[in-house]
Amino acid sequence: MRDFDALGDAITAGLLGRALEPNAGELADEGHTHEKNCLNCGTLLRGPFCSQCGQRSHVHRSVRGFMQDFLQGMLNFEGKFWHTLPMLAWHPGQMTRRYIAGERARFISPVALYLFTVFAMFAALNFTGTLGSDGAKTFQDQIRTEIADNQAAIVKLQAKRQTAIAAGKDVADIDRKIGRRRGDITEGQNVLSGKASPSDEIGDDTPSFIRPFIKNAKDNPQLVSMRVQDAASKYSWLLIPLSVPFMWLLFPFRRKYNTYDHMVFVTYSLSFMMMLVVAGNLLIELGLTSIAGMLFFVPPFHMYRQLRGAYELGRFSAIMRTIALVTFAFAAAGMFMAAAVAIGMS
Ligand SMILES: [Zn+2]
Repeated sequence: MRDFDALGDAITAGLLGRALEPNAGELADEGHTHEKNCLNCGTLLRGPFCSQCGQRSHVHRSVRGFMQDFLQGMLNFEGKFWHTLPMLAWHPGQMTRRYIAGERARFISPVALYLFTVFAMFAALNFTGTLGSDGAKTFQDQIRTEIADNQAAIVKLQAKRQTAIAAGKDVADIDRKIGRRRGDITEGQNVLSGKASPSDEIGDDTPSFIRPFIKNAKDNPQLVSMRVQDAASKYSWLLIPLSVPFMWLLFPFRRKYNTYDHMVFVTYSLSFMMMLVVAGNLLIELGLTSIAGMLFFVPPFHMYRQLRGAYELGRFSAIMRTIALVTFAFAAAGMFMAAAVAIGMS
């Protein structure tokens, strides 16, 4: 390998027409380096960074240096994060436009933010028990809710039956409905008491190709919800290429904005929406359900503001495009979740 490195250095030096320092690439033992050539690519150094590859002229080989790098990396991300987040929330259009125009170092890149929020979202969902750990409990609760619903329906049907009898009408249809509800209640109670396996519940009208999925989900809800979650996080990046063609449709005659611009727009937008999910979950966990419910109305406003600012649109054309984008987003989110569930259940 050393030979290859030396060859690479020689080629680089040759291409640049500069002499190669004899000990370029060697690290000093004291843990601090004083190099004339870049340790990464061999280019002759001028100033604190390599003009060719951007690496620092001085690199450290000490624990102290490692800690410094660690701290600097964290502070750098955190500084950018606290600069990016408020902009993304309040001035998403301006931020998208500025990032596209070239202010890259100031903000967290769309891809980094996206990866970070995917991670944060699934961490939050797991933490609050929306996915995963409480799957089995949720299933039992579901059956209990179903039983209660059926009992309420029977009370209503019986009242209806009384009126029908008083009016001298035929009650055969109502009786049949009551019978079906009672059957459902018995089935649910059997599942709860362990007399029947949940999979027994799959009705005759369930299409045969769905049955194995449902059986799988009911037999092992925890595993399935974990796999749904796994599929959703693994394929979440697909939302970006899925959304970009739609952005082309939104701006068919605008040569000024290219695919890269749309990708930045979509990725920042999706990151924000995932952050809303995280915020909503935390609010629900804190018992602030009504405030969490209000977050549901945030996406259209955010899309409007981001569209208007990023593409420098007037009010009317921004509103029209927001309506189209909201419609598309709900359809895409629905399809994505359906796909994740199908993958998780199979
Ligand atoms: Zn270099």
